[in-house]
Amino acid sequence: MSVIPTRADLAALPAYVPGRTVPGAIKLASNEVPGGPLPSVADAIARASADINRYPDMGAWELVRRLATQFGVSESEVAVGCGSVSLCQQFVQALCAPGDEVVFAWRSFEAYPIVTQVGNATPVRVPLTDSHRHDLDAMLAAITPRTRVVFVCNPNNPTGTAVRRDELTAFLDRVPEDVLVVLDEAYREFVTDPDVPDGMEFAPARRNVAVLRTFSKAYGLAGLRVGYAVAAEEVIEAVRKVYVAFSVNALAQTAALASLDARDELLARCDDLVRERTRVYDALREQNYAAPETLANFVWLPLGERAVAFAEHAMEHKVVVRPFAGDGVRVTIGTPEENTIFLEAARTFAG
Ligand SMILES: *Cc1c(COP(=O)(O)O)cnc(C)c1O
Repeated sequence: MSVIPTRADLAALPAYVPGRTVPGAIKLASNEVPGGPLPSVADAIARASADINRYPDMGAWELVRRLATQFGVSESEVAVGCGSVSLCQQFVQALCAPGDEVVFAWRSFEAYPIVTQVGNATPVRVPLTDSHRHDLDAMLAAITPRTRVVFVCNPNNPTGTAVRRDELTAFLDRVPEDVLVVLDEAYREFVTDPDVPDGMEFAPARRNVAVLRTFSKAYGLAGLRVGYAVAAEEVIEAVRKVYVAFSVNALAQTAALASLDARDELLARCDDLVRERTRVYDALREQNYAAPETLANFVWLPLGERAVAFAEHAMEHKVVVRPFAGDGVRVTIGTPEENTIFLEAARTFAG
């Protein structure tokens, strides 16, 4: 019997570790929002289900049009993808030849090294500063003639820290113009500091900047998989070429449009969540956890070698968090009741 030869480098591919789902436990492990779909969104999905014998609109044009109007850009400057993680992969596939380099901070979104290697490019990880922030000077220094893409996750997953307008502008001014900087703003709707810039201040006017957003977090559609990118026309055109046909499904397109209709209601939920974030953050600081500032819907506990023990302790309180062994623990902000149970677990951690 023959054995099919597969890519030798796949063995070295890091696995994406999803947050665990444990029946009966509180899940604060995947940065989902706690609220279920709004009735208007659920109704739109139910109505659209009558037509799922048909292929979806391949270009998701209605959604593209709506987003273009919302951001005051042209339709040729917007691409949608099957979750923004899919768009991350499309950027690498569209811009990198084998051996080209993709620069990103570490620790940051765990999909970056995976999509880079899947795209046959080389990941270049630039350590965060001691205060868990992007080190933009070091990232600039890491750019070589082989660099094609730089991911800047703002706010950063999993640390919650954010890059400010002045430092980002200075960075973008110095990045070579043939290197694409992807500003991954999955948590943009939770940002409360006006000094944290909206990526749309830079893209698509700067032709080497792309902004990446998702319906998975503030808009509550993680299970449906839809995200979008705004960038210069030539970048969007390339990204669309490596799109897996029909991968943004019909229900996702409908739900995204219905969510844009319900935008005010969904953003009001974000305000409630931000209030809870402040409560949880303050309580953790009070308990002497060295959590850095957070502008996202989660907090980071830099527990180092105690990270896994903390997660096990939280599990005893029926709370699932997301440990990164040897580094820290990321805890999603949930409902007030869930957060209170989590804080009690944190308070009683002796490790
Ligand atoms: C959650 C997340 C995404 C969104 O992923 P989807 O594929 O859109 O669900 C993208 N980037 C970062 C940094 C994230 O944390």
